[in-house]
Amino acid sequence: MTDLNVAGLLQAPPGTSRDLRLRDHYVTLGPDLELAGPLDADLVLQRTNRGILVRGMVRAPLRRTCARCTDPFVDEVAVAIDEEFLPSVDLASGAPIGRDAGESETANRINEHHEIELDPIFHDELSLTEPMHPLCRPDCAGLCPACGGKLDVGVHEHSGDDIDPRLAALGALLSDGDADGR
Ligand SMILES: [Zn+2]
Ligand SMILES: [Zn+2]
Repeated sequence: MTDLNVAGLLQAPPGTSRDLRLRDHYVTLGPDLELAGPLDADLVLQRTNRGILVRGMVRAPLRRTCARCTDPFVDEVAVAIDEEFLPSVDLASGAPIGRDAGESETANRINEHHEIELDPIFHDELSLTEPMHPLCRPDCAGLCPACGGKLDVGVHEHSGDDIDPRLAALGALLSDGDADGR
């Protein structure tokens, strides 16, 4: 969990800021986002007129599965954070603060313990980095449609295992000819 108490910062004048540096920070961000290790973050918390602005960068190793060869791999990603959190209770009285008319239902709130919960922000921003087709490397050749093995490994000339090897060699010669552009 990454909960930051900002009661002190809420009492400071607008513009006051506080640096937050997380190193080797272990979090669990939900079943749909598997981290291969801890994350690093360099954030600045700044008091605004309305609440607290959190800005900076988060770097995390995400586990993915290659869309071509189905191998698991680790993708090191970095995302920018830029979120404002508004108080949900009055700091002095503890009375609940309602939402402004123009305020979005999904606006980030500082909880009743004057804490900012960063994990949902990390989760949402890191989730956005998930590509449509994750690749273990850009030129991954994928799997052979004939044998299911990796095309990067071994030879995949399955012109038919029951074909005479001499004919297979001839077939290879012919396809070489095609490659020359005849
Ligand atoms: Zn791959
Ligand atoms: Zn094959």
